[in-house]
Amino acid sequence: MTTLFISDLHIDESCPAITRQFLDLVEGEARQSEALYILGDFFESWVGDDAADPHQSAAISALKALTDSGVPCFVMHGNRDFLLGSQFCRMSGARLLPDPLMVTLYGEPVLVMHGDALCTDDRAYQRLRATVRDANWQRQFLALSVKARRSLAGAARVGSQVHTAELEYAIADVNPSSVAAALRSAGTATLLHGHTHRPAIHPLTVDGRACTRIVLGDWHAGGSVLRWSRDGPELVSLPR
Ligand code: MN
Repeated sequence: MTTLFISDLHIDESCPAITRQFLDLVEGEARQSEALYILGDFFESWVGDDAADPHQSAAISALKALTDSGVPCFVMHGNRDFLLGSQFCRMSGARLLPDPLMVTLYGEPVLVMHGDALCTDDRAYQRLRATVRDANWQRQFLALSVKARRSLAGAARVGSQVHTAELEYAIADVNPSSVAAALRSAGTATLLHGHTHRPAIHPLTVDGRACTRIVLGDWHAGGSVLRWSRDGPELVSLPR
């Protein structure tokens, strides 16, 4: 049996090919899997559980069919869809995961994160993250009309694109000390995350111990899936 991990699909009505490929995965390979984990940025934008558009609803219905078929599905918040809440869980049958999370996969303890919390060189982003992850800020935002929320989220996306375009390549990546600290405090040798859109399996050493950092890819040009079985992890790109 295989456990599937995906992240950074950024599902959005502007790119229906991503949704179609996700539906293929959920209606195909995922049905035979032990569980499906979505490690953040499932949606390009999520302004509240009461505001799903038809496109997002199609992806949610597919998840519901998967969970109804008996395959558990777990979703972690990303920096785009951190407002996914309990109504989303009811609609999809998925369960929300804390970030960071420890999971044991076929006997191996693995630290799982979205990955944005590791990008500590990007100070401006970390300040924004602290603001929008605050419960009071979220309550006030969710009290606005759907139209107002969409308009604010649109402005935030433009701001984020400008910010990211101006960032140096290294600053937009994870900080090595933050990675080491996360592995040290979790006491594990394996870290799995998404967010940076730089799929790879990196060997590294923490306090003299051999460790591995696995990075999931985004879905902009094709799918990216990590299949984890008794034989270990396999990171694959799925052609569109
Ligand atoms: Mn992200």
